[in-house]
Amino acid sequence: MRVTFYGVRGSVPAPGPTTVRYGGNTSCVSAELADGTRLILDAGTGIRTLGNELLAGSRSVTAHLLLSHTHWDHILGFPFFAPLWRPETQLSIYPLASDAQERFQRTIFDDIHFPVSASDIPAQVDFVRPAEEVWRIGSATVRRIALNHPGVAQGFRVDDEGGASLAYLTDNELVGERSSELYERLARFSDGVDLLIHDSQYLARDMPLKRGWGHSVVDDVLNLGALAEPRQLALFHHDPDRTDDALDEVGQRASRWLAEHTRATEAVVAHEGLSLLLGS
Ligand SMILES: [Zn+2]
Ligand SMILES: [Zn+2]
Repeated sequence: MRVTFYGVRGSVPAPGPTTVRYGGNTSCVSAELADGTRLILDAGTGIRTLGNELLAGSRSVTAHLLLSHTHWDHILGFPFFAPLWRPETQLSIYPLASDAQERFQRTIFDDIHFPVSASDIPAQVDFVRPAEEVWRIGSATVRRIALNHPGVAQGFRVDDEGGASLAYLTDNELVGERSSELYERLARFSDGVDLLIHDSQYLARDMPLKRGWGHSVVDDVLNLGALAEPRQLALFHHDPDRTDDALDEVGQRASRWLAEHTRATEAVVAHEGLSLLLGS
């Protein structure tokens, strides 16, 4: 499975000289499965570049979009996903959360926030609602799990044919002790994956002010990493005010901590353009 980051920022796009290395686009990750099926995790502003790349490679694009939730930073790029404006495109969207489908369409394509209404999109867009918490897409088994986030978000685990595995957990606030039900549930869900991508928006010094805002402190994410022991733990959904230099520091600290507390988990600070081949 080939995983590529197109947007790693949380809350709001943050372009500028202090974020140029890690990137200012909001959440969007692509996962290309063993059989060539394309999954897209979230439609933040990073999806614009992904769309352009897909169209450069093929006239007709087929993709599966998994939405963690419908907060702005996870859908803002969607109208600018160029394949949406081609009739050859086949796009399956998995909103899943109870009323997310309606909210999703109402929020963007409502003639107020964007000039085109949902019914005038030329691509073949299919809203899929799997009946179970586990379902198949292409060569992979996909699972979902509820996260701790205002308005509810959901995380995904993707197990591809051949053994490559990915867990995508954003937006999520880890709270309480390492032994708590939330940590245990998420550690079981992402146990032993090749790559665990987790919301790491805050540092300890941001608390207690931002407690309850639905995002995790890096130290707590490392604790989850020590429980789940993925091969790689990607810190993701960076605060818009976190500079490149500050993220370098976060990465160095995380690497040191994981080397001391886990058997083999490696820290990765996600940046735009980072591409990882899993299961190899
Ligand atoms: Zn977010
Ligand atoms: Zn959110």
